[in-house]
Amino acid sequence: MHYAMEQRCLYDYNLSELTELLQSWGEPAFRARQLYRHLYVNLARQVDQMTDLPLALRSRLAEIPFSTLRCEQVQIGDNGMTRKALFRLPDGAVVETVLMVYPDRSTVCVSTQAGCGMGCVFCATGQLGLLRNLSSGEIVAQAIWASQELRAMGMAGPTGRVSNLVFMGMGEPFANYDRWWQAVERLHDPQGFNLGARSMTVSTVGLVKGIERLANERLPINLAISLHAPDDALRSELMPVNRRYPIADLMAATRNYIAKTRRRVSFEYVLLQGKNDHPHQAIALARLLRRSAPRGPLLFHVNLIPWNPVPGTPLGRSEWERVTTFQQILTDYDIPCTVRVERGVEIAAACGQLAGRHGVPLNTVEPETPTRNLTG
Ligand code: SAH
Ligand code: SF4
Repeated sequence: MHYAMEQRCLYDYNLSELTELLQSWGEPAFRARQLYRHLYVNLARQVDQMTDLPLALRSRLAEIPFSTLRCEQVQIGDNGMTRKALFRLPDGAVVETVLMVYPDRSTVCVSTQAGCGMGCVFCATGQLGLLRNLSSGEIVAQAIWASQELRAMGMAGPTGRVSNLVFMGMGEPFANYDRWWQAVERLHDPQGFNLGARSMTVSTVGLVKGIERLANERLPINLAISLHAPDDALRSELMPVNRRYPIADLMAATRNYIAKTRRRVSFEYVLLQGKNDHPHQAIALARLLRRSAPRGPLLFHVNLIPWNPVPGTPLGRSEWERVTTFQQILTDYDIPCTVRVERGVEIAAACGQLAGRHGVPLNTVEPETPTRNLTG
């Protein structure tokens, strides 16, 4: 099946592009600012709600798709505090977004591609292959959905708005760099969605060119790198990308990134029973990180991730005791290390489980209408 990006939607425009568009229709610039506020601050769900815009303008705007994401299903877990949305795109491709509400913050996990071409063997999305890149509007609209969801849940205080955003859903952000970065800029815009750069984290499979580009960007978003193995042989087996960018290249790029930005980098490490979770591998990882780190305070952090089983793979999830032993070894080497708290296990909302499981979900809440536009 061939998937292709279709017509632009309203979320594909930044403020200056909206201004240009409206000016080409003979509208003054302040109308574009009003529209932009409706989209990113008021979280309007349809053009009809923008009652301060003239009717003629509203009917013209209604000709542009509001958002191209159609929410087909929302699955609920963790007593309502984790919600996974399944969106159908106009060309039939599917992407998922997860909202996680914590006592002090609300985090949304956003997809950047439909499917993924990187082929990591432990990842459900990787098994789909790449269907297509998402447009910037399709990325942005996932964060808008999460904000609307929080509002509908009646959340208040720090959890009432999206406070953190991670690009850890389906896809490899650096393989769709330009559109992904446009989405970052738009979500950050203080006149609009106003999400702090430090509140966003991008996770990459290790595309060196993307790490180099990110080091030169003006917004200081956080970087997480999927490492998952302490040596090239095992990393290439788990992550085909390692043949193109082996560990030495990845570490050199990471060192340069830190030298340039002085920002801390996280390494993600999914624990697979008997594969990459032996104590000698924890030692090898600690030594690798110690010798790769730039001089000065250690700006590395390791995030151990309990693997979420993906059906059809011969891999297994590490027993808890092996996880804690692995963590202890890294700690003994003075490498800051945490174990990722799992969310949404019962609705398959955890990392790497987004995709291919749209059969019979638990606790499915159907939207009011069988298919609704994200914003309608
Ligand atoms: N493509 C990017 C970002 C999306 S994946 C990347 O690979 O970094 C986000 C994180 O989830 C990555 O660290 C990835 O390795 C991890 N992951 C993939 N499949 C997983 C699974 N089944 N269980 C736990 N984590 C998984
Ligand atoms: Fe793609 Fe990331 Fe999954 Fe690898 S882990 S296949 S890069 S989404």
